[in-house]
Amino acid sequence: MTRQDGAGSPVGTTPNGCRWCGALERGHYRRWKPSVGWHQWTPPTDEQRKARMLARRSPTDPGRGGLSSAARRAA
Ligand SMILES: [Zn+2]
Repeated sequence: MTRQDGAGSPVGTTPNGCRWCGALERGHYRRWKPSVGWHQWTPPTDEQRKARMLARRSPTDPGRGGLSSAARRAA
């Protein structure tokens, strides 16, 4: 198992990541993505930025629904 990528910055969760692949502008250069092909770093749309920031803030929000439903069952 090798875990050397995404040290501190997992791809896809950076609000300012590439529009197509989510990678940071720094070190992006040219990348290939199946649906896009070769591309250079492109700024994400405002919608993408918002969605990413929201996803970052609460990945799944485990403290709410899970707990209350579990407590209900236990009671
Ligand atoms: Zn990209």
